[in-house]
Amino acid sequence: MEYIFSPPPQVSIPVVGLAARFPVHRVYCVGRNYADHVAEMGGDPKSEPPVFFSKPASALVTDGDPVRYPQATTDLHHEVELVVALADGGRDLSMAEAAACIFGYGVGIDFTRRDLQAIAKKHGRPWDTAKGFDQSAPLSALTPRTDFAPSTDTVISLSVNGEVRQSATLGQMIWHVAEIIQQLSMLFELKAGDIIYTGTPAGVAAVVKGDKLCAEISGLSILDFEII
Ligand code: MN
Repeated sequence: MEYIFSPPPQVSIPVVGLAARFPVHRVYCVGRNYADHVAEMGGDPKSEPPVFFSKPASALVTDGDPVRYPQATTDLHHEVELVVALADGGRDLSMAEAAACIFGYGVGIDFTRRDLQAIAKKHGRPWDTAKGFDQSAPLSALTPRTDFAPSTDTVISLSVNGEVRQSATLGQMIWHVAEIIQQLSMLFELKAGDIIYTGTPAGVAAVVKGDKLCAEISGLSILDFEII
């Protein structure tokens, strides 16, 4: 194939214990998936279905690389999230088929320009500028599902400069991982290489340049990096 310019490199994620990297297709995200975070954002967890949105694959930041503070915001918020990576896909999956698509898991941050999101929400506009910006999706190395399975008492946490900002258990998720994959497959044909950010617990707050973030899910590789 000949192109008019060199195509961008394939975005990929390191995998714990393997030399081969995970090639990324699409990045999906779930909003409002922990009851306490829904409440802090002013919603009612029981009345609202999952909110799906997406980020470009090029928004991923891997290998502990620093994140440059983005343009067009003065209120950049961290959202620590369990991330699931798919090695298979399909449309209109059953719950069993959805679960069988899972390759592995990581811990990621769904960075959000909260000021732009507030304006979008107020006017009923899309969330793209609040969510899908450059470097908005830092992610740890992936752990294959043979070595990790989320459980209700698995701890998810985020600290900034050594101070804990978010801490919860995965048992607080409203929709669990297989349910999310199953529901997404009713909207999109999922593919090997898709990854899904599965929502954040309470405690979201702003970060500034110079902050050092450390995101952890017990049993997974740590994500730590600096905002520059
Ligand atoms: Mn989120």
